[in-house]
Amino acid sequence: MVVGLAITAGMLRAPTPLTACFFVVVIAMGYELSRDLIQVAQLSRELRASERRAELAAQAADLAFWSWDPVRDEVWMSARGRDLFDLHPATTIDREALLARIHADDRQPLREVTQRAVREGGAFEREFRVALQTGGVRWLAVRGQAEGNRAGVPSLLRGVALDVTARRRLEREVEEQRNELAHLSRVATLGELSGSLAHEINQPLMGILSNAQAAQRFMAGEPPDLDGVREILADIVEDDKRAGEVIRRLRGLLRKGEVQQGLLDPGDVVGDVLRVTRNDLLNRDILVTVELARDLPPVLGDRIQLQQVLLNLVMNACDAMAAVDRREIRIVARAVEGPAVEVAVCDSGPGVPPADIERIFVPFVSTKEHGMGLGLSVCRTIVAAHGGRLWAENNAGGGATFRLSLPLAPQTRNDRRRVQGVRSR
Ligand code: ADP
Repeated sequence: MVVGLAITAGMLRAPTPLTACFFVVVIAMGYELSRDLIQVAQLSRELRASERRAELAAQAADLAFWSWDPVRDEVWMSARGRDLFDLHPATTIDREALLARIHADDRQPLREVTQRAVREGGAFEREFRVALQTGGVRWLAVRGQAEGNRAGVPSLLRGVALDVTARRRLEREVEEQRNELAHLSRVATLGELSGSLAHEINQPLMGILSNAQAAQRFMAGEPPDLDGVREILADIVEDDKRAGEVIRRLRGLLRKGEVQQGLLDPGDVVGDVLRVTRNDLLNRDILVTVELARDLPPVLGDRIQLQQVLLNLVMNACDAMAAVDRREIRIVARAVEGPAVEVAVCDSGPGVPPADIERIFVPFVSTKEHGMGLGLSVCRTIVAAHGGRLWAENNAGGGATFRLSLPLAPQTRNDRRRVQGVRSR
């Protein structure tokens, strides 16, 4: 434009200077253009390189990529993703087709979590099983993120998936070994109790025998004392129930079964353990007091395993007090912050040397002549598997307290009731 004006104003002579100026402009523009082109080429090279890097990283980590467009209900998945979901490479996939590949028990939770991500945005993580066409299952872990459109409404879920079957299998094996060890330790503890348990079964059996002999005498009378026999038979039934109850509790503790999670009243677990140890406590001249906070919220756990933990703590407290005159165990259960339930077993023994307060939870640490040193380490593993904690403290006035805290069952966490008082058993 400037050049054109200059020509019209006669300041420049055409065509020579005009051509030269144009050349300068054209060269400058060409230079700019070629610089842009070079930059674009460089950018696309870098993009390809970074894509390649991402691909290599994904291959090394065995990651699969996926995305789901909830508006069109279209799922895209990398080749590895299709492998993991056991899908044919050419099948077009929507969300329901993908969910159909997932184990029936895991399907609904995954459906809900993805729906929530679409509704509310944000990231999510989930582990679930894919039911394989050949039978069996593959465990996958997915991590996803909702991406918003311009209005801020999530319009795409994008994420990665990873095969975690091997990790899950290992976890399962570790859990099985842990349960095996817990069972062995439980049997060993019950072995220690066997004398007093035999006595507990023997008592009703003796009662049955002497009642049966009395009934024989009543029957031999002329006329037979049928009312007396009737009363005796009722006693026999009661004694039989007592013996049966001891055997039932023992069988439960000796059983080597799957861990069964259920809602438990912590007070019931304390009661179970005191019933099993009752005779032993009597023989050792130990006074037991129990303080249960009223309306203790339930915890989620395996009844037998939690009984085992308490049984171990009570038996250890008994052993610790063998050489002292005042033998008292106090069991206190209360709701604490967390929210959790804490059960404390306090004794009037010599306490734990402060240097050993953590060491006693290490396997094979024992100060007892015939101790295996496994009880507390197994108990800590059990409590940890329940999401709780187990630790020891020395009491200001002497003796030790072992505290066990267990998180509340998820259902009751939000509606934690206040501790209103104390009830004793
Ligand atoms: P074990 O009973 O076979 O020794 P545990 O793991 O149950 O194995 O206990 C480890 C050690 O912890 C015991 O040997 C004892 O020294 C100590 N201990 C446990 N409970 C108490 C307690 N209530 N008071 C003092 N020491 C205790």
